[in-house]
Amino acid sequence: MGKTVGILGAGIGGLMAGAFLAVNGYQVSVFEKATTVGGSAGWYHRKGRRFPTGATLAFGLEEHGLLQNLLAQLQIELEIENLDHPMDVILKDRKISIYQDTKRWNEELQLAFPEKSKEVQQFWDELTFLGESVHSVTASGVSLPIRHFTDLGKMPQYLITHPLSLLRLGRYASWTVEDLLRKHELASYVPLRSFLNAQLLDAAQTDITEAALLPSSLALTIYRRGSFHVKNGIGQLSQVLADKIRECGGEIYLSSPVSSLRYDNNSKDWHITSKKHSSFYDFVINNTGVSFGPGTSHADHNQSLWGAFRIDAVLHKSVWQKELNEMVLPFAFQIATDSAGEEIKQAIDGPIYITFQQTNNQKGEIIEDEITMTCSVHIHNQVWLSYSKDVYEEKKRQLTNAILTEIEEVVAVREYLQYAIAGTPLTYQRYVGKAGVGGFPLTITNAILKPKSVRSSHPNLYLVGEQSFPGPGTLSAGLSGYHAARIIINNKK
Ligand SMILES: Cc1cc2nc3c(=O)[nH]c(=O)nc-3n(C[C@H](O)[C@H](O)[C@H](O)COP(=O)(O)OP(=O)(O)OC[C@H]3O[C@@H](n4cnc5c(N)ncnc54)[C@H](O)[C@@H]3O)c2cc1C
Repeated sequence: MGKTVGILGAGIGGLMAGAFLAVNGYQVSVFEKATTVGGSAGWYHRKGRRFPTGATLAFGLEEHGLLQNLLAQLQIELEIENLDHPMDVILKDRKISIYQDTKRWNEELQLAFPEKSKEVQQFWDELTFLGESVHSVTASGVSLPIRHFTDLGKMPQYLITHPLSLLRLGRYASWTVEDLLRKHELASYVPLRSFLNAQLLDAAQTDITEAALLPSSLALTIYRRGSFHVKNGIGQLSQVLADKIRECGGEIYLSSPVSSLRYDNNSKDWHITSKKHSSFYDFVINNTGVSFGPGTSHADHNQSLWGAFRIDAVLHKSVWQKELNEMVLPFAFQIATDSAGEEIKQAIDGPIYITFQQTNNQKGEIIEDEITMTCSVHIHNQVWLSYSKDVYEEKKRQLTNAILTEIEEVVAVREYLQYAIAGTPLTYQRYVGKAGVGGFPLTITNAILKPKSVRSSHPNLYLVGEQSFPGPGTLSAGLSGYHAARIIINNKK
């Protein structure tokens, strides 16, 4: 019988690790607190409808893309749509449409930032150049910090063929995005700052003043490689990974929160206690982002995390579409809130992110006459969790209203709303097991100086997901899961 692996949490990191280990002959058991798999890349059900818990846009699914390569190794095929026009970013005085096509995007840069078009183009060209190098290094499979030969992946081969690349990246290692703006004399150009801040808060969990240039260069330019809508939502990606684990004989225990994790010094095994099943394992992977004792999670580092506030809404599709008069909608809108009303400014940080997608019922079937609107923003967890029950309810109502008012300025939805339900840090606590979501901000410390390893200080315990290297987002969480599985497979106990 193969070695046993217990995985805490069926987020994308845990599922990716589990799928690689299962196809390599390990006996995989996944323990999940929620009734469905996926965590922030899953779905949950409200009023008989299926809503994405968090992620809606996928990256790395292009041919030979970072995520596509992993799925190909697992022989998993996913139905996806490549988005030509994934997003419109709405600023106070202008709109920036993000396109995949490079020519169209460069034209958009000229149109959107006419006051400084030449400098903006030069800035973007340099960002793209850096983003390509960062992509190549990521594709080499390197896992930071390097503590063992395995963590290098194919980095040594990459360096032989691209000797100057690392030197170039080294030069920018301590730069923030704002430093690159300064180099191009754009640091005080407000429209570009606002655009980058909106993009970075969602992708890097911080703004230009703190976001490390290297990972941000890839996050900001990745749309040229492709951004994707997964048929039936990103939850489908989590679902197929879970199916792969089961197909290889693994178990997934849903509605089975883990209550304790203990290392037995005599048997050198880990003991997992969960609601539905408890047993000993040779290896453990913690994907929950929750601590089960010192050194069992990066959450121990005591860095604050963002909370999310969301609105899950359903619109009358036919009337709404008629009213829109065939306006071509992007997949998503990002509405910058720099000039929003005081109520919004006090309550949230960063942009309002909205998508419009088909409505599915609990079985995943399409409901023809409805369209689902999802909306999410960053909020301060600690503030929300300190409210009394009554204040919490009142704040929830007020913020839902204020956000819908902001959305209405961009696209008319109010009149066609069937219902809109708010989700708060407590909703995340319930469905994802933690109120703080999104992982740690990609600052220079977190991304370059002290990246958070998938290795832990305990024997045979690994930490994967958005809190580990390479950081936030479904693609990065998936990569961390792959890195942990690779270490286990290469270093047999
Ligand atoms: C609102 C929002 C929008 C987002 N949009 C995007 C996007 O468009 N594109 C993108 O790429 N990324 C997006 N992200 C980020 C992305 O979804 C996450 O970074 C990624 O899915 C995190 O994966 P993870 O592996 O860290 O696991 P998580 O999603 O954090 O899952 C952890 C799992 O552990 C489980 N768990 C917790 N406690 C226990 C316990 N005690 N026992 C058992 N199980 C437990 C949880 O229920 C959960 O299933 C978004 C995130 C949010 C919140």
